[in-house]
Amino acid sequence: MAIEKLLIANRGEIALRIHRACHEMGIKTVAVHSTADADAMHVRLADEAICIGPPAAKDSYLNVAAIISAAEISGADAIHPGYGFLSENAKFAEIVEAHGLAFVGPKPEHIRTMGDKIEAKRTAGALGLPLVPGSDGAISDLEEAKAIAEKAGYPVIIKAASGGGGRGMKVCTSPDDLETLMQQAGSEAKAAFGDATVYLEKYLGNPRHIEIQVFGDGKGNAIHLGERDCSLQRRHQKVLEEAPSPILGQADRDRIGGICAKAMADMGYRGAGTIEFLWEDGEFYFIEMNTRLQVEHPVTEMITGVDLVREQIRVAEGRPLSVTQEDLRFTGHAIECRINAEDPRTFAPSPGTVTRYHVPGGMHVRVDSGLYQGYKVPPYYDSMIGKLIVYGRTREGAIMRLRRALQEYVIEGMKTTIPLHQALLEDPDFLNGDYTIKWLEEWLARDGKG
Ligand code: ADP
Repeated sequence: MAIEKLLIANRGEIALRIHRACHEMGIKTVAVHSTADADAMHVRLADEAICIGPPAAKDSYLNVAAIISAAEISGADAIHPGYGFLSENAKFAEIVEAHGLAFVGPKPEHIRTMGDKIEAKRTAGALGLPLVPGSDGAISDLEEAKAIAEKAGYPVIIKAASGGGGRGMKVCTSPDDLETLMQQAGSEAKAAFGDATVYLEKYLGNPRHIEIQVFGDGKGNAIHLGERDCSLQRRHQKVLEEAPSPILGQADRDRIGGICAKAMADMGYRGAGTIEFLWEDGEFYFIEMNTRLQVEHPVTEMITGVDLVREQIRVAEGRPLSVTQEDLRFTGHAIECRINAEDPRTFAPSPGTVTRYHVPGGMHVRVDSGLYQGYKVPPYYDSMIGKLIVYGRTREGAIMRLRRALQEYVIEGMKTTIPLHQALLEDPDFLNGDYTIKWLEEWLARDGKG
C-alpha cells in the first residue's frame, strides 16, 4: 500500500524531521498540535494542521481519540508517532491499525513485549542477546534472591519491573541489606508505578552505554546499522551522542550487530528499533529495547547515509528495506549535541521567546530544530529545542567542526546548553573518548560546574 498522506502525531524537531522525509517522498503531511503549538514550525510547514486539544500533553499529544479523529477528518492513511508520547504505546498502535491506517512503527505485540522489562529480558535472552546476570524474572523470595545475588556477585541492583526513566532502582552491596532494600524497592515501585514487582541483576560499576540501531521489514529480514555511544548522560538523560563509539572496533561491531540483526530477523521485527546495552570490559549486557526512532538517530544517518525515517515509511508500506547488510558502509564519525532551553549550570528550564537566531551551516553540519526568530518556546513540554549534528572523516575532524558550529549557533532570549557542550569539547577525557555513564555527573560536580 502506498502512503499518500501521513499524520504526524508529535511536535517539535521530530515532527519536522518526519515532515521532511515525507515531502522528499512525495507524501502529504498532516500536523496535529495543541493550542500552545499553533505557531510551531511543524504546524507551519505541514500541508494541513489540526488542533487536537489544550497544552497539557494528556489532553493533546496523548489524546488518542482526538488524534484518530484528526486522521479520519484529514483522510490520512498512516500515522507516525515520532518518539516519546504515544510511540511505545501498543494499544495506540492497535487502535491505529484497527482504523485501517498504517502505523509507522513496530507490530503492536513487539511494542508490548519490549515495554515490559521482565518480558523484554526473557525475550532478549531467548533470542541470543547477552544479558546482565541476575534473576530469570520477578523475584520475591529472599533466600532465592540471596542465592542469585551470590552467584552474580555483589553489588547487585534491584529494579522495578514497571520502572522507567531510570527510576525505581536500588543498588545493594551486601547480603545484609538485601531484605530491606528489596522491601523498599517493592513499596516504592508500588507507589510510583502501581506494581510492586522487582527483579535483580548484577550492578555494573562503571559501564558505557552503547546501543545498536536495528531495522526489520516485518517479514523476517533485518539489518543493523552499527552503534551509538550515549554514555554522556545526566540523570539518565543523554546529553551528547556519537557514532561510532570511540572504543569499538569493526570486529566488535560486526559481532554484536550480527547478533542483534539475527534476533530481529527471528522475531520478524518491523521498522526501526534500538537495542540498548551496557558495555564493560569488552562485554555487552542487554538493558532494554526501544521500539521506535530515537532522538539520536541522525548520527547513524550521518555515518551510513541511510535515511531512517524514509526506511520506516517504506517498511510501513510493505516494501523491503532499501539497503542490505552487505551494502552498508560505515564511514567517518558523527556527533550530536542536544540543545536544551536550560541553564547550562543548574539545568533549570529556561523557556522564552527567541529574540535573535542564527543557525550554523557549512559542510556536514545538520540542525534539526523547530526554532525561528520570534518563536515562543512553550513551557509545557520537554526542554530540548534542537539538535546539532556534525560529520567528519575522523573523530578529531568532527570535534573541530562541532566547535566551529557551536560557536556560530546564536540563540538569544533564553539560556541554552550550548556553553555546556563547548566546555565538554575542551575536556581531555572527552577528547580521548575516555568516559563512562558516570563521567558527566562527576565532571559537572568538579570545579563547581554543576
Ligand atoms: P529505564 O527503563 O528506567 O531507563 P534501564 O534498565 O534502561 O531502565 O536502566 C536505566 C539506567 O540505569 C541505565 O542506563 C544505567 O545507567 C542504569 N542501570 C540499569 N541497570 C544497571 C546495571 N545492571 N548495572 C549498572 N547500572 C545499571
